[in-house]
Amino acid sequence: MSRSSPKESVDADVLRTLHRIHQQLADLRERRARGPRQLRNADAHVAHQEQLLASIREEDKAMRTAADKKQLDLKAAEARIDDLRAKLIRASSNKEYQALKEQIAALEMANSVLADEILEALEKIDLVHPKIAEAEAALEKAREKARQTHDKVEQEMPVIESDIARLEAELKETEAALPAEAKELYRRVVRQRGEDALAAVEEQTCLGCYTNVPLNVCNQILLGYPVFCKTCGRMLYIPEGA
Ligand SMILES: [Zn+2]
Repeated sequence: MSRSSPKESVDADVLRTLHRIHQQLADLRERRARGPRQLRNADAHVAHQEQLLASIREEDKAMRTAADKKQLDLKAAEARIDDLRAKLIRASSNKEYQALKEQIAALEMANSVLADEILEALEKIDLVHPKIAEAEAALEKAREKARQTHDKVEQEMPVIESDIARLEAELKETEAALPAEAKELYRRVVRQRGEDALAAVEEQTCLGCYTNVPLNVCNQILLGYPVFCKTCGRMLYIPEGA
């Protein structure tokens, strides 16, 4: 049972070329889409580091303000103690003397707590300093990385665009070499499957879905019929040298 060739047979070389172009175009379009994504990520990282640094600086500022206020409070209380000591010298009664002494003692106690708090606050401020330096370094690094990413993407994009344009032209040209009926079927599968429209057959296996392609179907491909995988629907072709 021999089958005759179709009126206009499909050139295996055309299908191989079409598959190669579809894969290259898919790869280039993916790279083209990746560019803006990389830029957005790099810029978002810079913004994140800026925010981090700003919040540490704010924390530092708030801690300084609080420590300054405590220091002013301490000075005011010390001045108050000086006042009371002057009054103590001029105290006219034992009762007044004792009352002043108690007041001074209470203020001194409060001041000693305040002084401890100030020391603690200053120690905390000292700990924030390395954090600020760290955040500044991280921000600078993020900015440098973003600059590099922008440079790289700006250099790559025109090359990718021109490669896409060249391949799209090559695709049109190659598609024109398909016989009318095969072209119609090919266009339909491209609409449905895009870059996965074609698959090679090796050792009776569709390389698109890895299922068996019967021998009679392989023979149809060899005869130049437009043939599609029964399982995945890809247009099948025999790879070079097979
Ligand atoms: Zn398949």
